[in-house]
Amino acid sequence: MAKKTVAVEDLNLNNIVSQQFDRAARFVKLPEGLLEQIKACNNVYHVQFPVKIGDRYMIFHGWRAEHSHHRKPLKGGIRYSRMVNQDEIMALAALMTYKCAIANVPFGGSKGGVRLSPREYTSEQLEKITRRFTAELIAKNFIGPGINVPAPDYGTGEREMAWIADTYDAFHPGQLDNMACVTGKPVSQGGIHGRKEATGRGIVFALREVFRRPEVLQKYRLSGSLEGKRVAVQGFGNVGYHVAKILFDEDGAKIVAVGEWDCTVVHPGGIDVNALDAHRRETGSIQGFPGAETLPDPGDSLEVECDILIPAALENQITTANMDRIRCRILAEAANGPTTPRAEEHLLEKGVLILPDIYLNSGGVTVSYFEWTKNISHMRYGRLEKRLDEYQRTNLVRATEELVQRRFPEEVRQNLIREIGEEDLVNSGLEETMVTAFREIWEIQERIEEIQDVRTAAYVDAIQKVGKAYLELGVFP
Ligand code: NAD
Repeated sequence: MAKKTVAVEDLNLNNIVSQQFDRAARFVKLPEGLLEQIKACNNVYHVQFPVKIGDRYMIFHGWRAEHSHHRKPLKGGIRYSRMVNQDEIMALAALMTYKCAIANVPFGGSKGGVRLSPREYTSEQLEKITRRFTAELIAKNFIGPGINVPAPDYGTGEREMAWIADTYDAFHPGQLDNMACVTGKPVSQGGIHGRKEATGRGIVFALREVFRRPEVLQKYRLSGSLEGKRVAVQGFGNVGYHVAKILFDEDGAKIVAVGEWDCTVVHPGGIDVNALDAHRRETGSIQGFPGAETLPDPGDSLEVECDILIPAALENQITTANMDRIRCRILAEAANGPTTPRAEEHLLEKGVLILPDIYLNSGGVTVSYFEWTKNISHMRYGRLEKRLDEYQRTNLVRATEELVQRRFPEEVRQNLIREIGEEDLVNSGLEETMVTAFREIWEIQERIEEIQDVRTAAYVDAIQKVGKAYLELGVFP
């Protein structure tokens, strides 16, 4: 009897992104060779560098990939993870190019990473590693406010971004725009209000837009609003925590499961996200959260029955190995590359709405763009107009009340004249970006009949925009 062979799934993210690109590229008409140029990664820098830790010399591997220079500077996070490798970084850089194009953020795509597990190092050791890696990037011109601007990603955050900014500043004394060499900095160090929450908030804006559009709800057999929807989140880090918190606090969604690297907590009645965060701060883990069941496997968070599943950790989480056990109506890709093509095909056949990474998590780079423009303008958003705007609104409220001889109810009145701060402006720009991008993608999906999924439509949108930039600018020489 002939042996049955099971095809092994290709988990190389670079191959996966390349496949996704090809699937969409056939719907875009561009001169011969241009599609290959848009797809290719322009350059990659790999460095091995030593750091003295205690009495030992340790060697680290770092990468920075520059996928596309069609707009400058290039933009993309720096990741610290034991799994970092060149193919992964190149793939993530490509996703950055497409993401920026979709979100109408005028940057090319880049990504970086160092192969290490942050949990294994002290803060002091991580600072040394980060500063040395930054120096390596400076030496090869892979960082700079007009060249290449990193941001936080998996395993890094505000703290690392501050070290990067300070190192860059030490190498470029007296240069005015140094703080714009990196985004995601602490607000007190040139960062911007709302950046930490931006990726999560962007995801929520996108989900709200889905539930506002009858044609989307109809196509994917969804109904109602986010209120009461059952949500499962994998990864309770920067992105996962904020998306869960905003959905819980502002939209009344029910967070039924949260997965972390060491376990999953489940509660069909809903988890209080703020209490879970407090528990994690107190104990160092989400394990044993009172009132919820703790399951030992982090992967369990993906298999809970829910309306919206949000993978917010790493790539290749939804594969042929678990696709049959995924029970959601919407798969919201907060992480980059969480779904393999075969798992995607399977879920699409089941009618699941997949909101793809290149659209859904673009809120981070959008607000990074706001931070970068703030840094090069050297002024906080709203500083000039804040008071004027407030006086005008107050006058308008008073004039209206006088005219109709009635006072607005106090809550309405306070809302009309309240202060508009930097975070309000950032969130307004973020919402505008996510809603506009969704409209552009959906328009493509509706117009091109053969396109039946949001990812392909999003890629078409990105490829068209990058292609247009090449056609208008021409290619040197
Ligand atoms: P993070 O390091 O802040 O959080 C990741 C969390 O996932 C951590 O708490 C970690 O303990 C947890 N985790 C690790 N392995 C896990 C597992 N097997 N199961 C469940 N949880 C696990 O990283 P982040 O910035 O939130 O990034 C998460 C994802 O979102 C990445 O794919 C990243 O590329 C993507 N992303 C991040 C941003 C951003 O602004 N930070 C923007 C766009 C996309």
